[in-house]
Parts: sequence; C-alpha cells; structure tokens
Amino acid sequence: MKSTITEINENLLKLRDKINHHNYLYYLKDAPVIPDSEYDRLFNELKELEALYPELITPDSPTQRVGELPSEKFEQVAHKYRLFSLDNANSKEELSDWYNRALKFFPNDKDIELFCELKIDGLAISLSYENGFLTRGATRGDGKTGENITTNLKTIKSIPLKLYSGEVDKIPEFLEVRGEIFMPISSFEKLNEKRRKLGEMEFANPRNAGSGSVRQLDPKITSDRDLDIFIYAGIIEGNHSPATHKDTLEFLRNLGFKINPASKLCRNIDEVAEFCDIWKNKRFELGYATDGVVIKVNDINKQDELGFTSRAPRWAVAYKFPPEEALTTLRAIAINTGRTGAVTPVAILEPVKLAGTTVARASLHNADEIQRLDVRIGDKVWVKKAAEIIPKIIGVDISQRNPDSEQFIYPQTCPSCGAYLERKEGEVITYCPNLTGCMAQLQGWLEYWVSRTAMDIDGVGSSLVAQFVEKGLVKDPADLYGLTIEDILTLDRMAEKSANNIINAIQSSKIRPLAGLINALGIKYVGRETAEILSSNFSSIEDLKLASCEQLSSIEGIGEKSAQSIVSYFQNQKVISMLEKLKNYGVKLEEEKHEILEEQTLTGKTFVLTGTLTSMDRNKATDIIKRLGGKLSGSVSERTSYVVVGENPGSKYEKALKLNVTILSEEDFVKMIY
Ligand code: NAD
Repeated sequence: MKSTITEINENLLKLRDKINHHNYLYYLKDAPVIPDSEYDRLFNELKELEALYPELITPDSPTQRVGELPSEKFEQVAHKYRLFSLDNANSKEELSDWYNRALKFFPNDKDIELFCELKIDGLAISLSYENGFLTRGATRGDGKTGENITTNLKTIKSIPLKLYSGEVDKIPEFLEVRGEIFMPISSFEKLNEKRRKLGEMEFANPRNAGSGSVRQLDPKITSDRDLDIFIYAGIIEGNHSPATHKDTLEFLRNLGFKINPASKLCRNIDEVAEFCDIWKNKRFELGYATDGVVIKVNDINKQDELGFTSRAPRWAVAYKFPPEEALTTLRAIAINTGRTGAVTPVAILEPVKLAGTTVARASLHNADEIQRLDVRIGDKVWVKKAAEIIPKIIGVDISQRNPDSEQFIYPQTCPSCGAYLERKEGEVITYCPNLTGCMAQLQGWLEYWVSRTAMDIDGVGSSLVAQFVEKGLVKDPADLYGLTIEDILTLDRMAEKSANNIINAIQSSKIRPLAGLINALGIKYVGRETAEILSSNFSSIEDLKLASCEQLSSIEGIGEKSAQSIVSYFQNQKVISMLEKLKNYGVKLEEEKHEILEEQTLTGKTFVLTGTLTSMDRNKATDIIKRLGGKLSGSVSERTSYVVVGENPGSKYEKALKLNVTILSEEDFVKMIY
C-alpha cells in the first residue's frame, strides 16, 4: 500500500513538472510546444488524480494556482484585487455539471441567469484608473503579482487613457478593468509573413504573437504591432455598483471601453448551449481567435455567494470549443531550396483529415523550429490548420515516441547543389549561396521570372522550366532570351507551332514595366510591393545598381535589410554578367519613357494602395500615379499623402485611420487622376 502511494506521488510529481514546463514555455516564452487541447488533457489528468488523493495536493500544484510567476524582465506589481483563471468545461455534460453545482447554492431558484461571452484567446491584463485616468496596466502573471507594462499598453489605441464622462453620472474614484489583449488574425498573418521574409522566428499563433508584442521592453515595437483589446470585467470602487454583470459591461462601455458585442444574456443552460453551438462555427468569420465561450452568473450578489476556488471563480466557466488539431505520423522531413536560396523544411505526413480537408504536408518553418519542437521522423505530431492557410506542426506527442528515434540533423549543405548553407547572424533561415549554379534555386527563380507580376511570359510553366534547366539550355534567366526554335523543339512532345508561341512570348517580355523587371530579379527581401516602390524612385536598373545602402534605406517603405540585400545583389559577379547578357539580348532595363503630356498633378504626393480596385488593377493604378509625378509606398506613415482604399482593404486602412491620413475611395482616386 505504502509503495502505491509513493508511486502515485511520483506520478503526480512527474505530471506537475510536465505542466509547469509547458506553463513556462506558454506564459513566459510565448512559445508553446504542445497544443492547448493536449495541455488541457494533462491538466485534467492531474486534477482527476488529485481529486482521488486530496491529501497529496501541494500548494504549488498547477491546479492550485493561476498562470506563472511574472517575468523579471519587467517591474513586478502586486494586484490590488486578485486575478483568477477559469475552470474549463470540455463538453455539454461538463457544462451542465457546472450549472447544477451552481444551482445547488440557490435551492429556491429553478434557473439562474447566465451571461455568455466569447472567450478571447489572448493575454489577460488589468488596467487601473484613478479619478478617470489610466495609472497602471499589468499582466495577470500568477494572479497576485503581474508585470508592469503600462507604457506598452498606452500604445494600444482602444485602451482609453482618460475615461469618457459624457454617458455616466460620475466617474469612479478607482476603477480596475480586466480584458484580453489580442492580435487580429490578419495582422498576425502579415506579421509572420514579414518575419518570414526577414528570416526571423515566426509566432506560433495569434495569442503568442499578441502576448509577445505587448511584453516587449521597447514600447515602440508594441506600438508597431496591431493590437486590440476587449474588456470583460470591472471592479468599481465608490458609489456606483451595478447589480449584474451585464450592467457592469454596459457601464464600462459608456466609459469608453471596447466591449465585445458577441454576447448574450441567457435564461437557462439550454440557451447557453445554443449560444455555444452557434459560435462553434461562426467564430471562423471573426477576425480574431476565440477558443470558447465564457459563461458567467449574471447576478453579482449570486457571484459573491458562489465565491472562488484557489484558482478560479465558481460563478463562471469556460466552455472550450473542440480542438482544431489532429494527431498523425511524421513520415519524413523534406528540405527544399527556394528561388532566393532559402532552404526550408516541409513535414511529410501520414495523410489526416483536418477541418474538412486531408492534410499530407505541413510547414516546419526552419531549423530552429525543428530543434525547438525536437520533432523526429516517426513521431506522432499535432498538425493545426486554424487561422493560417498552410497547416503546421505545433507539437509532438513525446509519450508515443519510439525510444530508438534519433534527433533530426539539419543538413549543412544544399540538398540540390551541395553548396554549404549560410546563415546570417540573427536570422533563422539558412540560404544556399549558389545563386546561379543551384538547379533548385534556378528552377524557382525561372518560375518566378516568368510569372505574371514579374516578366509575365505566357505559356512557360514549371514543367517547361524544369526541362530548360535539366537540359542545360538555361543557366540564368537571361538565357531565356537566347533560346531558339531549334532549342525548344528538342524538348518533349514539342511541335513547331507551340515552340513558336513560346519564343514569341519570351521575346515580347523584353519590354516590361521596370517594377516587373525588378521583381523578376528575385532580390532577397524585394517582392512585388518593394519593386513598385523602387521603380517609382529609380528610372533604370543601372540607377538602382548605383544606389548606396543609405540612399535606399532613406526611401519610405524600404527597410535596412532590403537595402543591404539590394546592394549586395548587384555586387554579385554572376548578377553583373546576367544583366550584361539581358542588355545584349535587348531586354529593356529602364522605365519606358512616357511622353509628359499630362500635367504632373501628383508631384510630391505619396500614395499607398490597399484592397482590390475594381476599375483597374494595381499595376495600372501604380503606373498612372507615377506618370502624374506621384510616388508609391508600401507602408502608411505620417508622411503618406493618400491611402487609396479598394475592396477588402488590409491593415493599412486601419493604420491610415489611426494616423489620420487622407483616405481616398476608388471613386475619389479616379476623379483625382482623370
Ligand atoms: P484560460 O485561458 O483557460 O482562462 C482564463 C482566462 O480567460 C482569463 O484569465 C482571461 O484572460 C481569459 N478570457 C478571455 N475571454 C474572457 C472573457 N470574456 N471573460 C473572462 N475571461 C476571459 O486560462 P489560463 O489560466 O490563462 O490558461 C490555461 C489555458 O491556457 C489552458 O487551458 C490552455 O488552453 C492554455 N495553455 C496552454 C499551454 C500549452 O503549452 N499549449 C500551456 C499553458 C496554458
């Protein structure tokens, strides 16, 4: 018997250690290695074991405390009122169990009014207001002590620095509100795309991105990230104390706080279940991540009677939506070299059904990510396909690991050409430096070269490109222009007519807008948008080639990294000879000179385009702006003159609103240019 208790105790210790490890990665590092559903499973296992052996519960058990101790990176502050976590209900039965337990406190009531809100998957914070002014903002931390992040929180536009007094009788002397900071999904995707391009580590999900962004030592970084907040609770000191949770939220809304409108007052648990069912599917239409519904007893007196356990209120529960992850086997890790030389790993999976589609490949991002997850071939891995389009591996089920499995050794050489891979300091991506000698790179580059936003060569697709490369007909993009009909006729199943068409398509791409050519060059960190900006600042490749790093980075929308990359690109001997060849083949390396018929009405004006224009495509809009003397930029700043907003605009639109930059509808824009 004694040894059994010892064994159970050992089990408990192991489980607690494991959960504490994941708490550390999730709360302090913002980099979890297992999905939330797996964490919840471990947590429930611990709870169930502790329920069987309550004498073995220790005060430091994760079931007895909230979150994690705050990081020492920040000043630590004691919360005036403790912040709690929430107990979970993972099924409708667990939800009913919670309700029945609560009902027992009120024998005279048949039902209790419940208020349902979406559970925002972000970072819990508290904000203190004294006599109407924001005096402190802190993270939840372990509920008693949090991190002082006031300066960072002040950069978030939806947090009022001063309360609005127009709608309330009296501003409370002291008010503490709690809310959830989050990063909208579109901003998260853009941030990760930017980080990917810069070779920086991507965030695992919007929650980690939001938490990582607000817990920065430099508030400028926080202010550059698009963060938002929903307030879901308030403690009001003084004479105003609403009787219900719903009224508290209304009061807070009147003071200027952002309250989530997706909520409902329910008369019984059946109405709650209905609300949960509706949002289980509808949540994907929201622009932010939510992982469940929080159900709260509406009557504040009843809340007081129900009280708290050591880590959560009894008057509230979090109904968790079913997980969006699937467990499958990692068959292999394929390493691919892309067109700019970036070498990326892709997970080859045992096909698995996930969110309505079959997933057989998933992103693994880079060598660091493989190391962070310690993912090995043969492992059972969790794949997630939530906000992001490309599924990714978010964790490994170590308990199912084959003991003989070996750590994955990331290759040091390019899988295509064997060149030693390079990795710059501070970057997570490794690159194959063999710009024109690497077949994989060349294949990717040629495919990019012929694409619509680059040289737009119709009829030349990846299989044709593969044959050009294989047969050694094309060693760099300039060789395309030297191809003859005879060369093309040597390819598989090629008839004279098609060969002719191909040659014509290649030849007619010799005159392209400069932006298309710059984009086609495949310079690292220079995509279509940057190419457009460069083409509105330089009139030829020769000019661009002569530009210094300082000159380039002084252009609005061109960062230091892109500037450095452009300069070093043009120093590459192989690039120099390729440009020479292009010139000799008659490819136009400068912007076509437009006769200046129009008045230069847009001189000195900088434009940013966002969304889809219906009356013209982006290239045309860009072209007209440049013809009329205007400039284009890829990002909105105080110096932007106009933001042209088409259909489904992105975050640039919101940034323009924030910075008070003049916004032009498509109609306004058309009036301005014609
Ligand atoms: P929680 O996320 O389960 O619930 C409590 C939190 O919900 C509150 O602190 C509050 O910030 C938030 N919340 C969002 N919307 C709310 C609303 N409308 N009303 C009230 N509260 C609202 O709490 P937790 O204690 O921070 O974390 C536990 C959860 O975090 C786990 O269930 C798991 O999902 C996740 N987690 C995951 C890992 C991992 O490794 N994957 C590790 C630790 C925690």
